[in-house]
Amino acid sequence: MGDETMGMSETPREQRELPILQRVAPRRRAPTPEGSVGYGEPAPQARYVPQPLDARPHAEAIGEWREVLRETPLLALGARADALRRERAPADVVTYIVDRNINYTNLCITDCKFCAFYRRPQDDEAYVLSYEEIGRKIDETKALGGVQILMQGGHNPYLPLDWYTGLLDHIKEKHPIHVHGFSASEIEVISRVAKLPVDEVLRELHEAGLDSMPGAGGEILVDAVRDVIAPKKIDAARWLEIHEAAHEIGMHTTGTMMYGVGETWEDRLEHMLKLRAAQERSVARGAGRFTAFIAWSFQPAHTEMAQWDLPHGTGMDYLRITALSRLVLENVANIQVSYVTQGPKMAQVALRFGANDFGSLMIEENVVSAAGVDFIMPEDEIRRLIEDAGFAPRRRYQDYRLVEEGDSGCPCCAWRAPVAV
Ligand code: SF4
Repeated sequence: MGDETMGMSETPREQRELPILQRVAPRRRAPTPEGSVGYGEPAPQARYVPQPLDARPHAEAIGEWREVLRETPLLALGARADALRRERAPADVVTYIVDRNINYTNLCITDCKFCAFYRRPQDDEAYVLSYEEIGRKIDETKALGGVQILMQGGHNPYLPLDWYTGLLDHIKEKHPIHVHGFSASEIEVISRVAKLPVDEVLRELHEAGLDSMPGAGGEILVDAVRDVIAPKKIDAARWLEIHEAAHEIGMHTTGTMMYGVGETWEDRLEHMLKLRAAQERSVARGAGRFTAFIAWSFQPAHTEMAQWDLPHGTGMDYLRITALSRLVLENVANIQVSYVTQGPKMAQVALRFGANDFGSLMIEENVVSAAGVDFIMPEDEIRRLIEDAGFAPRRRYQDYRLVEEGDSGCPCCAWRAPVAV
């Protein structure tokens, strides 16, 4: 309360005028008997008709990889991916990062059917965190050895570009840390509100202190799938375009995939091949690139799609996808497991199917936990799991450099974000 009151005098005018911005939600909501959801009624299941192979981009490669999947037993696929992983990343090391998810707002107008996290503008549970609250969370993160924050939120049309640049200035000045934040679809909304092109918005955010960009909002990069699960979100081409624009100004980003929403293997392969092609273009330009790929399965609880009859991802699916992502995305150096959605034991196994990174310690996580999944673990347990799988656990930074004793700060943004490690 004291912090909030003190912060008011420093609060930008735009922030004070919007009453919604003064509400701060608790970390996690208890689901109501009907499920604590951001929508009114469950959506009727939409019929999805996949495109024929020959109408797809990368049709030939999709066909070839489909054949590999059909002909290669799971363990052989895993061994092939494991061999490539040993070439691409330090063979005996599995990395992880100590960071915190900060979901600065849950107010969203995009109504993705797979999302349990967002709240509509009129919802009493809609919130925007104040700069001071975000600063407090960063200080806690740094005290625990955190080296970055992952900042993501809903598509909130009430927040102008100044709010974001003001926040980044505030962070870099008062709570310096690496900021990995704002997905491509958030960038699109910020640019629409600001009526500015995305590359200009990206440049302003980068100059204010945005260091790298997460891959959220990728879901499945096939428009026919996106039209069913998130019809108001940017299309696949725009998602890729925004990532490439970020790369062009020197920012690294990550690629992600959320599967198990009714898509086919052809869709999954098309998604990976589009990422691979984007990476080829970015690497050729020589600035930023995708540093890692992370896949996770759709978590249906409390979402509009909860009642849909979908073939949700199995453990074997997850291992096939992990192995395939290492093989198809051979130009992306790091493949991350998702212990938060798959559980720690499946994550351990995935380390032998091409993955080399255990992801984030996640001091706080709100999005997946809103869908009832909660596998957050202490650091000791993450290290134990990695060692038990036969690897040396090492802390890393966002750009995958290892944290070393005596480091004076995050090496990729030290000039503005010195951190104690
Ligand atoms: S996934 Fe993101 S954009 Fe979609 S409804 Fe949830 S918060 Fe909004």
